[in-house]
Amino acid sequence: MNEKKTPRKLLEAMSQSIGEPGLPSPLVAGADPFFVLVGTIISLRTRDAVTEVVTKRVLTSASSLEKLAVIPVEDLAELLHPAGFFNRKAVQLKKIAEILLRDYNGEIPADRKALESLPGVGGKTAAYVLSMAFRIPAICVDVHVHRIGNRMGIIETASPDESEKALMKYFPEELWIPLNHIFVRFGQRICLPRNPKCSECIFKGWCRYAD
Ligand code: SF4
Repeated sequence: MNEKKTPRKLLEAMSQSIGEPGLPSPLVAGADPFFVLVGTIISLRTRDAVTEVVTKRVLTSASSLEKLAVIPVEDLAELLHPAGFFNRKAVQLKKIAEILLRDYNGEIPADRKALESLPGVGGKTAAYVLSMAFRIPAICVDVHVHRIGNRMGIIETASPDESEKALMKYFPEELWIPLNHIFVRFGQRICLPRNPKCSECIFKGWCRYAD
C-alpha cells in the first residue's frame, strides 16, 4: 500500500512512529482559549523549550485577561524574556487583553477574522487557537508542517499560506485538528529541520527527500 496516497493512513503511521497512540479524537474538550492564545503568541520565533518555560511564567503572573491588562508592560517584557521579540510581544499581549475586555466581553472569539484582527495574531496563530481551543477544524502550518509536507512531496508549496490551502485539500477535514500536533512531534523527533533521521523513518521507502 502506498501510504502517501492515503492521508488517514499516513497520519496514523506518523503518529505511531513517534510513540503516540494513534489519532486523538477531534471531539475532546478544547484547552483554555486564553492559555492557547497567549502560549501561541509566545511560541512565535521561539524555541519549544523556551516557549514552555516562558508561557508557564507569564500565565502564573497573568492568569487572566484582567491581570494581563493591568500588568506593567516592562514587567511583562521581563517575564517574556528570552522569548523572541519579547518587548514587542509584551505590547501586543497587553493590547490584546485591552481589546478583548473592551470589545469582546472578556472572551476569546471563536472566529478567524476576529482573531486575525488582534495585534500580532496571524493566520497560523488563529488556526491554532480555533483548532486547539475551540475544536473548530483548521490547519496550523508552522515550520514543521510546511517542511515535512514538502519533503514528503504530499504538497509542493513555497509558503506556509500555500501549504495551508494544499494540506486542506489533501487531508479530509476530520484530520485537520490532530494534524498539527502529529506533524510537530514528528518534526521534533524524526524529520528534524537539519539532519532528519531518514534511516529510521518509516516513510523512507517513498519519501522523495530521503533519496
Ligand atoms: S524519510 Fe527523511 S525526509 Fe522523509 S519524512 Fe522521513 S525523516 Fe523526513
